[in-house]
Amino acid sequence: MPSHGSTYCTPYRVPEKRPGSSDGTAGSFGYAPHAHALESLCRKASPAAFGMLSWPAMSVTDPNPQSLPDFTVRTNARAKHVRLRLTLEEGLVVVVPKGFNRAGIPAIVRSKQSWIRRTTERLQAQQAERPGSRDSLPERIVLPAIGRTMALEYRRTAGGTVSTREHERGRIVVSGPCGRVAEVQAALRRRFVQIAKRELEPLVWELAQAHRFVVRRVGVRTQRTRWASCSGRGTVTLNAKLLFLPPGLVRHVILHELCHTVHLNHSSRFWRLLAHYDPEYRTNDRNLRSAGRYVPAWF
Ligand SMILES: [Zn+2]
Repeated sequence: MPSHGSTYCTPYRVPEKRPGSSDGTAGSFGYAPHAHALESLCRKASPAAFGMLSWPAMSVTDPNPQSLPDFTVRTNARAKHVRLRLTLEEGLVVVVPKGFNRAGIPAIVRSKQSWIRRTTERLQAQQAERPGSRDSLPERIVLPAIGRTMALEYRRTAGGTVSTREHERGRIVVSGPCGRVAEVQAALRRRFVQIAKRELEPLVWELAQAHRFVVRRVGVRTQRTRWASCSGRGTVTLNAKLLFLPPGLVRHVILHELCHTVHLNHSSRFWRLLAHYDPEYRTNDRNLRSAGRYVPAWF
């Protein structure tokens, strides 16, 4: 059983046991927008597209240390397996358990080259489907979750820092050195966290009250790998990216988290409870797996 204070999140999928992993105590689940499990081993999916592979730790000698794709290695003390994680942002990351013999990593990467190639192509295709561009600034932003379109206005200055202001509901003014696209995008993300707090947090309280779930706190962040989460202390945390999803999916995510205030796990009792409040949860869950495409590429 998860200990008090551990976190379960709204994975956009029903988790499957991974050999060697203990989901009951791992502390969290990811419900992700671009969920797609490769070889059915991954359940944490990411709001940004990603691919993941995992298999038991082993040591292999690389017979041919040439022509490998670039990768970075990260140690994770909690990892029980070697994992390959592929995102367009970070490229290929090899996550290894503590004490793993790194000499074997090139051979592992080599043995997964066709997966790396296939996944890269798939992620690029998904990326192309997403609205907005990573290199340009949006002029309008559609927020299906709250049925509103925001118009953006840029007031450029040579120096200073980028700031945003919501003038009236529906219009955001960005001031500062707007040529620094990454800074503008970061400022917009902060602004949309504020909007999500104002617009989505009340939905959590309303649904909790209507169905008598006990929630202690509600918050909004921009998590990379989860749509939402619920802690053992009754804190529900939403991802601001939910603003870009259809309202039905947002409701589904919130109900998923609220059911975690009763069952802090993904047991059959949990799914039965969710089915009670969200009879369409299977369809919603399936749609959520590909919902990352609704999130603008720059977000
Ligand atoms: Zn969950």
